[in-house]
This record gives sequence, structure tokens and C-alpha cells, in this order.
Amino acid sequence: MLPPGSTIGIVGGGQLGRMSAMAAARLGYRAHILTNEADGPAAQVAAAVTIGDYDDPLALRAFAAAVDVITFEFENVSAAGLDLLAGLKPVHPSPAILGISQDRIAEKTFLNGAGVPTATWALVEDAASLDAAIATIGLPAILKTARLGYDGRGQARVATVEAAREAFASLDPKPLVLEGFVDFACEVSVVVARGADGTVVCFDTVENQHVHGILDITLAPARIPEEIAERAQALGRQVAEALGLIGLLAVEMFVDRDGSLRVNEIAPRPHNSGHWTIDACPASQFEMHIRAVAGLPLPPATRHSDAVMKNLIGPDDIARWPEILAIPGLIPHHYGKTDARIGRKMGHVTRLFPRGALPGAFGIADALGPLGVAALSA
Ligand code: AMP
Repeated sequence: MLPPGSTIGIVGGGQLGRMSAMAAARLGYRAHILTNEADGPAAQVAAAVTIGDYDDPLALRAFAAAVDVITFEFENVSAAGLDLLAGLKPVHPSPAILGISQDRIAEKTFLNGAGVPTATWALVEDAASLDAAIATIGLPAILKTARLGYDGRGQARVATVEAAREAFASLDPKPLVLEGFVDFACEVSVVVARGADGTVVCFDTVENQHVHGILDITLAPARIPEEIAERAQALGRQVAEALGLIGLLAVEMFVDRDGSLRVNEIAPRPHNSGHWTIDACPASQFEMHIRAVAGLPLPPATRHSDAVMKNLIGPDDIARWPEILAIPGLIPHHYGKTDARIGRKMGHVTRLFPRGALPGAFGIADALGPLGVAALSA
């Protein structure tokens, strides 16, 4: 158990690092951020910062020397960088887990090997394997880069062989995976934490709505039958156990129209679909993350309220900040980013409801005031 006053090193300087650093501070820890961006969201609230590239051995060494334990809010550190860090200080989650989550091929191979269902998929390396993949998976399908894709980038939905060939030519880096298109009823996720002593806790299953591949709204709890929600949590626990996780893990899933679940992606870090926990749970995903990494006991992942979380994305949403602050009941979270580029996550708002009182779509749009206009067609 890491004593208060110790320093937790967080690789990555974005909003996930910012909210993790704030949770660490509340538990008496100092957060030290490794980031390539001076004055980013995490650096603004941290006790210390190392500015450097995530693969620069000098920066990694300086960072490791200054901290007691290392964790991540950003996954795409090279294997060599991870090995270097792991040779110097305890790293949670382990580099092996990060390696799995960085690569859709390794991820799906691991999940399927652990008995966890995913969309059907096939490896695509060249023109011949693309044709073979289309023959086995069928169309429509989604062609994705195995590495470095996020928020809907690095992927294309393809309905014809021609479109698949065009997408193959334009998507980089190779290799790619072709995934069968899942005609899902909804998308859900769970956030699960596992401590060094093997304790596993899992937040309630939530429902996620994406716009242009970016998370827009999370509803807690998901509006699905309890039995499916429990199966989603069981899958989350199963993945955490199979990985031997120490830390926090988000598991995104599709709910098929027949009620079956398929895992889309795992992320061994706090997740946008868990931001609601800051306001609706006694211990948020960020506190669970820090507790797991610091070897503290994990409290139950209890939810005291129902919640709706809405992302504030790009210049248009964040321009409404003054308006948002004036809406009673909206809990505002600003990430401190100065450059509001299109598609960039600038902040989020949460609205709480008494347990069991999460309204239907119209009520939620209403509750979000002007932010809810475009929200929730379902
Ligand atoms: P990803 O980058 O894999 O998280 O995908 C981003 C979003 O694209 C997901 O949240 C889904 O809305 C959609 N998507 C991804 N893969 C599939 C699939 N195999 N079938 C249907 N929709 C998908």
C-alpha cells in the first residue's frame, strides 16, 4: 500500500490524466505527468510534469526516477518504452496488457482465446487477404487499422468490394482487420477495477451513443434488461481476470438484437464512458484507478444516482460554457484545453437523477437543456 505523500506517475497529459491526478490528490498522493504537451489538461492540475516524447529514453528515465509507481491514461507507448519503464518502477496495468489493447489483432485473439465473443473478424495484410476476408466475413463490414485508431479514426464502413479495396488503399498503418458489421440494438460498456489482491469491482453497465464515431452521451444505467446488464458486468470481470489486470479497464460491447453481447474494444485505463461515476458514485472510476495502482483496498463500485453524461466536443459545444453554467442541475467539467479543434473533447456535463428515475429519451434531451436538442434520437 503506497503511503500518502507518494508520487504516482501518469503517462499521458489529457483529460483522463487530469481527472486521475485530481483523484490522486484527494487520496493524498502527488501526480507526476509525462506528456509531450506543456500546459495540457493533466499538467495544469499535477504536482509535477516531465515534458518529453513518450518514446524518448531520456524523458522516460527522468520520469521514472521521480515517481513511485507508474500508470497510464494514454496507451500508445512503444513496447521498448514500456519495457524501459517497467525495468525502473512498478507499472500497472502491465506492459503486456497495454500491448494487447494497442493492437486489434492481439486484442481479438486474446479475447476469443479467453472465450469472450467479438464481431467476426479477419486479418487483412494485402489484396489477397482482403479478398479472402470478404469471402469469410461478408459485406457490409468495417475495415480498421490494427493500431493507432481512436474515436472512429482509422476505420471505414464498406458495403461493396470496390469500397473495401479503396478503403484498403487509404487506411494506414497496415495491417488491417475486417470486422463483420454488427447490427446492434445498442452499445454498452463497463468499467472494472482489479486490485493487487485480486479483488474485482465493476461499475454498472451503461449505454453509449456515438456521433461520427465519437462518444456523445452515456446513460447510467443502460436501458436494457437487468439480465443483459449483469452479463455485461460478468464479461468485464472475466476479461479483467483473464488479463491478470492490476488497475482499471473499460470494456465496450455491442448488444445484439437477440440480446447477446460482443466485445468491441478494451482500454486498460479510465474511459470516457465512465465519467458519470465522478458525480454518481461514492468512488469514481478515477479513484478506483488510483486505488488499484496504489495497492489500496477497492470499495464496492456503488452508484447512488442515475446519470446522463454528455460530452462537450469542439468549438461549438464549448462556446456554450457560460450557458451551461447557468443551467441548474448540470454538473460541469472543463478540461482546460485552450485550443478547441473540431472533434476535440473539451469537457463534459453530468445530470443526476434519483435511482430508477432516469427519464426516457425526450426527458433526457429536456434535462440537458440546449445541449439536448440533437441528443438521443433513440
Ligand atoms: P471503435 O473505434 O472500434 O470503437 O469503433 C467506433 C464505433 O464504430 C463503435 O462505437 C461503433 O459505433 C462503430 N463500430 C465499430 N465496429 C463496428 C462493427 N463491427 N459493427 C458495427 N458498428 C461498429
